[in-house]
Parts: sequence; C-alpha cells; structure tokens
Amino acid sequence: MNKIKILFILVFVCITLIPSFSQTFERKDIPEKYKWNLADIYPTVDAWQADVDMLNANVEMLAEFNGKLSESADALYKALKTGNDLTKTLWRAWVYAGNLSNENLNENQAIMQQMRTLETKLGEVTAFFEPEILKIPKEKIDQFFNEKPELKNDFDMYIDNIQRLREHTLTEAEEKILASFGLIAGNQNEVYSIFNNAEKPFPKVTLSTGEEVELTSSVYTKYRAAENREDREKVMKALFESYGDFKNMLGANLSGKVKKDWVYAKNRKYKSSLEASLNSDNLPTEIYSTLIEQVNNNLPTLHRALDLKKRMLGLDELHYYDLYVPLVEKVDMSFTVEEGQNILLNALKPLGEEYVTVLQKAYDDRWIDYMPTVGKRSGAYSNGGAYDVHPYILMNWTDDFLSVSTLAHELGHTMHSYFSNKTQPFAKADYATFVAEIASTVNENLLNDYMVKNAKSDEEVLYILGSYLELLRTTIFRQTSFAEFEWEIHKKVEAGEPLTGDDMCAIYYDIVKRYYGHEDGHCIVDDYIQYEWSYIPHFLGYNYYVFQYATSLIYGTALVEKMNEQGQPAVDAYYNILKGGGSKYSPELIKDAGIDPMSPEPVALTMQKMNRVMDQMEEILKKIGK
Ligand SMILES: [Zn+2]
Repeated sequence: MNKIKILFILVFVCITLIPSFSQTFERKDIPEKYKWNLADIYPTVDAWQADVDMLNANVEMLAEFNGKLSESADALYKALKTGNDLTKTLWRAWVYAGNLSNENLNENQAIMQQMRTLETKLGEVTAFFEPEILKIPKEKIDQFFNEKPELKNDFDMYIDNIQRLREHTLTEAEEKILASFGLIAGNQNEVYSIFNNAEKPFPKVTLSTGEEVELTSSVYTKYRAAENREDREKVMKALFESYGDFKNMLGANLSGKVKKDWVYAKNRKYKSSLEASLNSDNLPTEIYSTLIEQVNNNLPTLHRALDLKKRMLGLDELHYYDLYVPLVEKVDMSFTVEEGQNILLNALKPLGEEYVTVLQKAYDDRWIDYMPTVGKRSGAYSNGGAYDVHPYILMNWTDDFLSVSTLAHELGHTMHSYFSNKTQPFAKADYATFVAEIASTVNENLLNDYMVKNAKSDEEVLYILGSYLELLRTTIFRQTSFAEFEWEIHKKVEAGEPLTGDDMCAIYYDIVKRYYGHEDGHCIVDDYIQYEWSYIPHFLGYNYYVFQYATSLIYGTALVEKMNEQGQPAVDAYYNILKGGGSKYSPELIKDAGIDPMSPEPVALTMQKMNRVMDQMEEILKKIGK
C-alpha cells in the first residue's frame, strides 16, 4: 500500500527546535502553576497502567474481523468502530506516557517502551483493514453509507483515503516485489548522511583575527553571520567549494534518489514523482506549480527586501554571503511567563471571544509546561492526541521574545486541536501536515502585529519588523527556490534526460541568480553558490516536502490580511480550518477558510503585507536618520 494518513497512526505533533542550554532547576523546585496537569488524563500512573493492560487484552479481538469487512455495513462499521475506540484510548495513554517521559528523559522511559510495543501490536492486528477495504467496490461502499449513516459520518474520509488509491495499487504479487525494494530505498540518503556528517573533510580557514578554524557545521553557521565581511565571504566560499570538490559523486547520488522516486511513481501509474508524492495528502500538483509561478511573479518584492538589506548593512553591493548577517541588532526584550500570557491574550483577541476564553482556560487549567528543568526535553511541542481531554504544550521558557512567539506558535496548534477535537468525531479530528502550520503562523502574525502596535521604541519596532521580514524572505522565497530545484531535477529524469552533478550546479545556479536578482545587481550570487544544493540534506531525506514551509506561511499571512481587511466574516471563515480537523481534504479546508490555494490571491496578500512591513521600516529609518 502507498503510505497514507490513516486512523491507526500518528496524530500531528508540531515540534519546534529552539536552542537548548544546561538546566540547573529540578522539577520539584518549580511552582505547580508552571507545570502541566497530567492528572486530567489519568489521576495516577496506576490508572494509566490499567488502560494499557485493557488495551493489551482487547487489541487481539480486532483479528476476529479478518475477512469480514465487506460482508455488510454493520460488519464494516463494527470493525472500524472497535479499531477507532482502541486507537483513541491508545492515544490517550500515549500522550500521558510521552508527556511524563519528556518531563525527565533520564527517567520515565520504560512507560514509552510499553506504548511502542502496543502500537506495533495494533498495527499488526489491523494490517488487513486497508487491503480488504480497497477490494470493496465503490458502489458497495456507497450502498453501505446509505444503509448506515454512522459509517459515513465517522469513517468516510478514512475509507476514501484508501479507496482513492485503487488505481495506484498493484496486484498482490507486484506489491510484494515493489515492497522488497524498500530494503535499498533509503540508500542515497544514508550515503549522504555518512558523507555529510562523518567523512567529508572540513575545510580550514584563517579568519581576520589570525585564528584558524575548521568549518564544522556549527562553526560555519557561526561565521557565515560574522560581522567582518571578509570572514563571512571566506567561510561561505570555502564551505561550498569543499562540497564542489565532490560534485560528481554527490550528483550521482542525488540523481539516484531522483530516479528511485520516478521508478516508484511510474510503477504506481503516476504521471510524475510530484503527483505521487502530493497524492499522499490528496493535493493536486497545481498547488505546487501555483506556488512556484506566483513566487516568481513576485520576485520584485524579494529584490526590494534585498535592496533594503543592502541599505541597512551600509553596503554598495550586496552578496549572497551577506545574507546571514542580522538585519537589525537584537533588542533586549524580557518577558516573564505571566507577561507572555497577557500579551497573547491581547494579541489573539482578533480571533474572537471564544478563542480567548479557551486560551485563558489553557492557562488556568495548566495545559502548558513552561520551565526548563534538569532532564526535560528541549524545544517545544503541542500534542492534541488526548481527544477526550485537552491538548498539551511543552515549552522551555527563557524570558525572551522567542519564548513568547514560540508559545504563540504552539498555542496555534493547541487551539486547532481543541476546536477540531470538539467538533469532529475522533476519526476525523486529526489534521493534515499541509494545514497544520497555518494555525501556528496565523498566531505568529497576530503577535507580530500586536508587538509593533505596542512597542516602546522605534528600535523595538525595527527589530520586530526586521525579524519578520527575514522570516518571510527565507521561508517563502528561499524554500520555494529549493522547491523549484527539486521539481526541475525530477522533470529532467522523467523526460529521460541525463542528470549529473554539473547539470545540478547549472540548474541550481540559474534558479538562485534569478530569485536574487543577480543580473540587476540586487544581490550578487558568486559562482561557488552553484554547489549549495549539495549542502541541503532535505533533497535526499524528503520527497517534495520543503514547499509546505512556504505554503503554510503564505496561507497564514494571507488569512490575517483578510481578517484585517474584512473583520468578522474572515475570522468566522478561518474557523472552518480550526474546527475542520481532517473532515475534508486540505485544499477544500483552505478554500472554506476564504482563500483559494490555486489562485494568485494568497501570495498577493502576503506580498502586500511584506511590502507594508518594508514601508514601515523605511519610514522609521528615515525618522531616525539612517
Ligand atoms: Zn508548528
């Protein structure tokens, strides 16, 4: 079977990585109000264990349905309902175990082991569900839906997600052969990881201070943003040229991965690797081509941002190696948890009273674990898997603006889960990756707008707007340039043309020069940038994935623009995403929220915002005489 999003796997968990540092506080020293209340899921570990024991005893009964799913509407409903209920309990237990173990990764690990064993067992026992449902003719499914409205109400999406893959599913024998190639399917990624993380020689560079450094990945990341211009040029040139030394090997390796994608797609009767990949979320390829086309149409906005950066850095000529230097010096802003909570209550007010009421409830009822403590998992996440309870957020609060914006982001996911869980049956509550980051970016946008309106100084405004502008530049334009490269190399292979390291350099260099306005002098893209593709691990590790970073931010920004322009009707429409869960496919949900992903509108609205941000920045610069 193709990999599809189904009832019996994973709920969406957003994990944000933020820098970690050593912790000195013990969990027991943290006041209760800063800790989440896991007792809402189970009062004690014993209660959790009782559910796990119940699951272990009952999972086997799903095997009784083997061979019977097509018998009648009742039989199918009963099987799915039983699987559904067990999965719901499994997830409740999972969230409890996961959260508890993340409180201290040095302890509490055995409980996760129990969960993984249970999940594997559930997967094995229900392995016959998909192939059996696939064999039921569409007409019979429709007849079942008529006979049993509950079946349609709860499981139509689950069933359709299986049925719609019929034309891309092969005979049992063919599927077996195809599956056997899974053994080598990850090879190119493995080769790249070993090379990139272990065997690639580190170039040595002598900095302006006379210090000689080896360009490991963290040293490179540090010095590409160096204030000394020669240093940052030197490290970028040395690093990319060190990849260029291996361009033939790296090219052959990536070419192998692209050919693999095409072999799988072709065998499954897809017209392209892109179609095959997007089909797992039921996205039409037009979503992808529209993004690339619209971003290309709006390159003048990127060029304006580059010109502004040139001006703010005081340069006559902006080079690609200047891009990592911060646009605006960091302004020290400090926020306690309570201050952060308050800011968000105000910033998210435009989303309506109900939203703010639930937000207050999330604070009061302790859905959130704030403080970094010894052994606690780093970063941040939101998990809405405990369907009958409420979502949970893990934070590592460090009193800075990043803490506030991370909380805004995670609260976006949490509120999305809250409303979807409340509105949809369990089987349709989980939302697709493609829509997940919309709720988080809507909140980040609203927070930024609020911070700008309530800033204490011009420097603060400039810092917030500057960081936001850089986010739009890197997430929308840079990620889309990657998406375009990924598409181009696949198209070459699909047309039966050769694809070497040199070809990739040429394709990549052309794209980057066009995006950054090299010919018109907006940003000079020096020739060693042609090797940058071989520095990006995503092209090997993922399949048409990076474009979703761009689309989410575009849709989130566009929705907030609409809310600013139209007020309440646009806010109401946005709730179609929040409450929609996985009750429809992503493009429909987004359309219901008021923007058509296949039209130029979302990018146009985002560019309108980006240009307004630059207007504001230029005004301040003028005012403070810069
Ligand atoms: Zn997220």
